[in-house]
Amino acid sequence: MGTGNTFRTLIIGGSVGGLAAAHELRAAGADVAVYERSAGRLRARGAGIVMQPEVAALLDRIGVGAPGVSVELHERQQLHLHDAPVRYAAPQLMTAWDTLYRVLREPLSEVCYRLDSELNRVRVEDNEVTAVFTDGYTAQGDLLVGADGIGSATRRLLHPGSHPVYAGYVAWRGLEPESAVPDHLLDLLAGRFTYFGADGMQMLCYLVPGPAGERTEGSRRVNWVWYANVADRDLPPLLTSRTGNRFTYFLPPGDAHGDTVGRVTACAETTLPAPFAELVRISRVFMQPVYDLPPVRMTADHAALIGDAAGTVRPHTASGTSKAFGDAAGLAEALRGWDPSRPLPASALENWEAQRLARLLTLSDAGLELARRSTLGIPTACHYFSDR
Ligand SMILES: Cc1cc2nc3c(=O)[nH]c(=O)nc-3n(C[C@H](O)[C@H](O)[C@H](O)COP(=O)(O)OP(=O)(O)OC[C@H]3O[C@@H](n4cnc5c(N)ncnc54)[C@H](O)[C@@H]3O)c2cc1C
Repeated sequence: MGTGNTFRTLIIGGSVGGLAAAHELRAAGADVAVYERSAGRLRARGAGIVMQPEVAALLDRIGVGAPGVSVELHERQQLHLHDAPVRYAAPQLMTAWDTLYRVLREPLSEVCYRLDSELNRVRVEDNEVTAVFTDGYTAQGDLLVGADGIGSATRRLLHPGSHPVYAGYVAWRGLEPESAVPDHLLDLLAGRFTYFGADGMQMLCYLVPGPAGERTEGSRRVNWVWYANVADRDLPPLLTSRTGNRFTYFLPPGDAHGDTVGRVTACAETTLPAPFAELVRISRVFMQPVYDLPPVRMTADHAALIGDAAGTVRPHTASGTSKAFGDAAGLAEALRGWDPSRPLPASALENWEAQRLARLLTLSDAGLELARRSTLGIPTACHYFSDR
């Protein structure tokens, strides 16, 4: 049990959702410790992130204004294969996973953030929760928060038998230093959200801050995402790296097999408008298949799930990160002032769960509808990257 009325919280997963939970729960009176599976520096999975209100609200509370960590866009433009782009005004702020990670992590230097800590088991005894990690290390707390993403071990332990399901399409991605992108492409892309759609595919692109959060011209990065339908049977070879490693959720930059890179570039040349095809050609591509992880109960005995671990939303609503932040803020509010010598605030937690599950459902429905409109994940639409 915590000292005085401070409750000890073990946060599993030290990505942006886990860090948001650390900030919010500390502000609500918790002593927090974060346990992250990665042994070293976390690999940025999300690349570009559209700034959303929940993220901006936490940044404000920790004294970092959203504009200070974002690249500003003023227009949207749709590219066409043969016609000129169609443009309209649409101001928006864009940030990046590593920028957010850094600004959230820095103020937590006093907090225990243990790397190389893969959750293996959870035990609850006498109102105390024990997390057991694969290296045998154990940690005790009053509450455990699973922020361990789409492959969540916390979720598997609380809800055995729930697995992510492949949605039928992948996201090829690129995140290139602005300095490596030719001027004629930057003239077209900088300051704009640029997109293109065709049968069974959609591509979008915008600039984000540089690797150390740089926002000045010349030091930002060009972030692009190219969604394309890929049949189930064609996915495993695409996720197999140059060295034969088989990835599941993320093929890192530089790991794609030479043949795969060749096929991606060739497909880009024949299907995308010339500026997007060129961008793909000059990029170190990486890839994320899109998976659905359906909602489950977010509360359990002395445990809670947040972010992707609680259920995913399709990326088209650009709200995976903000959903995780909203989950964290609401959980902290429900627990504010909880004295761990007393029972958990069950009714506040039930309300939190009901509200956040409703939000998840709204977002996941909206994401499915956007995917459907773009013929993504639709079996009868065009499919790509088959070697049959
Ligand atoms: C193609 C694509 C594009 C996307 N674009 C956007 C976008 O533009 N904007 C946006 O907001 N969202 C986007 N998302 C969604 C976004 O990536 C996630 O919703 C968001 O990162 C959720 O954060 P999280 O902290 O819950 O999970 P994650 O970021 O996945 O973090 C989970 C962490 O837990 C750790 N972990 C896993 N297992 C264990 C374990 N057993 N023990 C300890 N630690 C563990 C992992 O190493 C990781 O660091 C996109 C997703 C995809 C697939």
